[in-house]
Amino acid sequence: MDLIDPFGRTIRDLRISVTDRCNFRCTYCMPEEGMKWLPRSEVLTFEEIERLARIFVEHFEVDGLRLTGGEPTIRAHMPLLVQKLAALRVPASSASAYAGKKPDLSITTNGATFRLLAHELREAGLDRVNISLDTLNREKFERMTRRDELVRVLDGIEAAKEAGFSPVKINAVVERGVNDDEIVDLARYGRDHDVEMRFIEFMPLDATGHWVHDKVVGQDEIVAAIAAVFPLEPLAGRGAAPASEWRYLDGKGTVGVIPTVTKPFCDDCDRVRLTADGQFRTCLFATTEFDLLRLIRSGADDEQLAAEIQRAVGTKWAGHQINQVTFVRPTRTMSQIGG
Ligand code: SAM
Ligand code: SF4
Repeated sequence: MDLIDPFGRTIRDLRISVTDRCNFRCTYCMPEEGMKWLPRSEVLTFEEIERLARIFVEHFEVDGLRLTGGEPTIRAHMPLLVQKLAALRVPASSASAYAGKKPDLSITTNGATFRLLAHELREAGLDRVNISLDTLNREKFERMTRRDELVRVLDGIEAAKEAGFSPVKINAVVERGVNDDEIVDLARYGRDHDVEMRFIEFMPLDATGHWVHDKVVGQDEIVAAIAAVFPLEPLAGRGAAPASEWRYLDGKGTVGVIPTVTKPFCDDCDRVRLTADGQFRTCLFATTEFDLLRLIRSGADDEQLAAEIQRAVGTKWAGHQINQVTFVRPTRTMSQIGG
């Protein structure tokens, strides 16, 4: 059966955070020091993730699973988890394009160790990969991520292509005064390396609380900067996808923007999230979580878990309130929720 929220949106996409830990410390996400990690005993096991994912896919007809974190590749044995998820089947009776098939499996990673895993993940059944890259300048990369890993990330992108992932999408968070001078260079990189750049508006989910509206570089500004150098035309119909997309008029691919702040796309949102510690969230910016870890470990059966998931989806709100004075930041930050 479909999982439908109070505003008539059908839930099709589940983001699963597999860890809150990370080998980077991006300034827009984590503090330099002092993150409090979840105790390992409170992190969902692969068997628990598989069980919950099975309910989402086989009972609620969710057809897309994205693995994220923290940094998902630092969790041991990830290909094993991908293998388990690739064995799930969307019901044949579903209206989904994936009816009777395995769900679309993807990962979001910082790419630093992706070369070590790319082939194994592909063979295990991973379909797609998004790699984060905010700058092409080595010093700036070190300032933004607090790690000198640009070379390995660029190599991770090449490894993703070599392993057969296509298209490889590259996520770049744009922060005014930090890397907005590189929008065109990053777009050029995407064109030259046959990867799709996706620029992300900076969101108020940073751990240090330095987000202010003025630091957001909006979609219109990003697109105008690129189009001034590489003419673009909009692609119609993003559906439930978060990115608006444009096509380069000279045929050299596409570019996307995720305009969470300046052009919220909540009306078409089909996403829900599971944190590494088994908390179910119906919005990235939700202030309420539903404790599936406690439920699962207290012996709940699948019907009870499904009922709780349905109850939670019944509280999904119409949209986030970032642009309103009433906006309240979630207490957990991006890496703790799972971006
Ligand atoms: N560690 C992986 C990575 O960086 O790709 C996956 C997790 S990360 C939290 C997921 C995505 O969220 C990344 O593309 C990252 O750049 C983005 N992100 C993190 N903090 C953000 C913020 N405050 N605003 C917008 N995007 C953010
Ligand atoms: Fe780690 Fe990703 Fe957050 Fe950067 S954005 S600190 S790589 S979780």
